[in-house]
Amino acid sequence: MTATDSVTAAEPAQHAAPEPCVLLKLGEIVLKGRNRHQFERMLQNNIRTAVKDTGIHADQTRREGVIILRVPLQDYRDRTAADHAQAVETVLNRVADVPGIVRVCRAWRVAKTPEATVGAAVDLTKDVPGPFAVRPRRRDKRFPLTSSQIAVLVGREVQKAHGLEVNLKNPETEVFIEVDAREVFVFTSGVPGQGGLPVGMSGKAVALMSGGIDSPVAAYRMMRRGLRCNFIHFSGMPLTGPESVYKAYALTRGLDRFQGGTRLFVVPFGKTQQSLATSGADRLQIIAQRRLMLKTAEALARRMNASALITGDSLGQVSSQTLQNITAMDDAVEMPIMRPLIGWDKTEIMAEARRIDTLSISELPDEDCCTLLTPKRVETRARIDDLRKIELRLDADEVAEQLAASAQEYKPE
Ligand code: ATP
Ligand code: MG
Repeated sequence: MTATDSVTAAEPAQHAAPEPCVLLKLGEIVLKGRNRHQFERMLQNNIRTAVKDTGIHADQTRREGVIILRVPLQDYRDRTAADHAQAVETVLNRVADVPGIVRVCRAWRVAKTPEATVGAAVDLTKDVPGPFAVRPRRRDKRFPLTSSQIAVLVGREVQKAHGLEVNLKNPETEVFIEVDAREVFVFTSGVPGQGGLPVGMSGKAVALMSGGIDSPVAAYRMMRRGLRCNFIHFSGMPLTGPESVYKAYALTRGLDRFQGGTRLFVVPFGKTQQSLATSGADRLQIIAQRRLMLKTAEALARRMNASALITGDSLGQVSSQTLQNITAMDDAVEMPIMRPLIGWDKTEIMAEARRIDTLSISELPDEDCCTLLTPKRVETRARIDDLRKIELRLDADEVAEQLAASAQEYKPE
């Protein structure tokens, strides 16, 4: 849908019933000058796809840094106002997961009269913490009250209704009032959205998903920078059970709410790990495995026109993540490897995993393929020449191509 508001145009504003709706504040994309329209279009598309998941129809309109979502009242003609309000709430909760939105606000769209405006402000402030401030803005100067008159009137009525104090400098709650051409929007500051950029704006990447704590957080952080993520998981099968695959599936399914249309590719890696071991990888086993994972991920990325890889590496977290080993991994592929957690502490990563609801899945027990065939001592200063020799014996690039070609796809949406 384009940014038209034909529905509102048809309604005489003075008689419009008060209507709950959702108001979204766009962040960074407002600043993007020339490309701004493309970014907004992408965000609107992502919002539309997300709302579709709810089965509720909502109209989008866009104006100066905000998007308004309205669930048409006529769709609820045969139901109660509470049903309509519930539908608006469902839409609000769903779009709170869409990257590119900084704040998600409950709003009232009311007729262009002082009485309707006051009524909406009083309703929105019934459970909020004080003190509060009213922030009016008139886009249509024909409104019978000036901005300061609106502030005084609404402030007084809210104070009277709920006993809240006014504090213009340091309010806990702000009540925004926007007088538009056809209607008035009343809303409070709402809750933080995901922030960042709309998914897809930065292109597409393949994220290496282990089933551990770090990789889902890494993928999420890159989604928020506008990268669409497809996932690849290496299981130790047939040498291990399928538990790690279930975890990778559950994790990608959980992350799907941030982007939609997620694809997961699973590679049984056990036999390949064995052949690395028999080619004498020894202390280099882990790094050699990781290089082969990266090569396979790159081959898969090429097949789907993705242009970057993502891992959950954090500098120094484990012996395979020393600076030398990270350098040795970069050498395995041509594509850039995005490591958004490189400077994060484990406690920070865990807090983020809890916030995005992946932690409890990551903490389920499984048999990680990396613990198969682990040497007694892991090389912390892998030499690239040694790794390349091992790979030559194995014809690693060909193996990677084959593994990518035979990866099994799941659609966790
Ligand atoms: P995580 O908590 O995500 O498992 P980690 O701290 O266990 O990470 P490593 O096991 O060294 O660290 O893995 C580092 C990164 O390599 C992971 O974040 C992931 O991107 C990738 N990786 C490791 N094992 C696998 C696997 N079996 N399948 C896909 N990617 C993997
Ligand atoms: Mg791991």
